[in-house]
Amino acid sequence: MKKLEVLDVDYNEVIELCYQKMKDDNPLRDKCEQSKELLNDLKKSYENRAHLGDLHKCVLYEIKKEDEDEKIIVGQLSYSDLKKLYEQYLSKEGQPARNEVYDKIMRVETCVFCDIGLAKDLDHFLPKSKYPQFSILPCNLVPSCVDCNRTEKRVIIPRDKSKQLIHPYFDKSIFFEEQWIRVSLSIDKVQLDNSFFDFYVEPPISWNSYDKEKAKFHFINLGLKEKLEANASNEFSSAIRQAVGLLDALTLEKWNDLYISPVINNPEYYINHWRRILYSELKHYVQNSNLTV
Ligand SMILES: [Zn+2]
Repeated sequence: MKKLEVLDVDYNEVIELCYQKMKDDNPLRDKCEQSKELLNDLKKSYENRAHLGDLHKCVLYEIKKEDEDEKIIVGQLSYSDLKKLYEQYLSKEGQPARNEVYDKIMRVETCVFCDIGLAKDLDHFLPKSKYPQFSILPCNLVPSCVDCNRTEKRVIIPRDKSKQLIHPYFDKSIFFEEQWIRVSLSIDKVQLDNSFFDFYVEPPISWNSYDKEKAKFHFINLGLKEKLEANASNEFSSAIRQAVGLLDALTLEKWNDLYISPVINNPEYYINHWRRILYSELKHYVQNSNLTV
């Protein structure tokens, strides 16, 4: 839900960084050198498809454990070679590719999928177990929280134009610049714990049906409803409790200035950030209900 720029690094450089510390007689070094061109061709096709929302057209591998070593995926690189390149060279502490690629991609605070959890894992947007050809491709690597990476997202394979997640590097700007997550509120001012909120997906009507479905797919498959509602619930037991408690003591304008504006005008909160959505709706709710003074 957060638009990111792809790490500005040449793919050949990434491949070279991976084998930089390998001994000259390591066969993997040779295989990498000889597969560079094909890896670059695959990078181009990934980018083209991702721009068009067609990542479901990428070749998907169903590889059995016993075939891992022999199965050639790109040029001379087998499934296990690609796995090794990622695990022992790109993501391993102390390796040159770790510093120049992995750590640089990880320089964001929150997860690109949910905007809630801390970005602690480097996630393969197309899972490396099914798409080993993109194991070390920087534009397939995204910073994610542990929840999104290890639980929900790991099983998500793009199936068609709408049954796939929103890609933080390539998807249309509408997903990042227009509001498509909303919340409905019902506040019990006396018993605030009885208040009700419901996050749901409602993209602008101008969107095409693929994009509307994709937003819904992302929301459902990452369990965003539950995550957003858990956060909103915490907010109700703290900041919102205080804000609602002071409604009668302040003019609406003063109340907005104190409690609403600092959140909805904070550039840290993207248009679909749960906090911004919640406070915008709270403002609307207060203005249109008997909660006002
Ligand atoms: Zn997440």
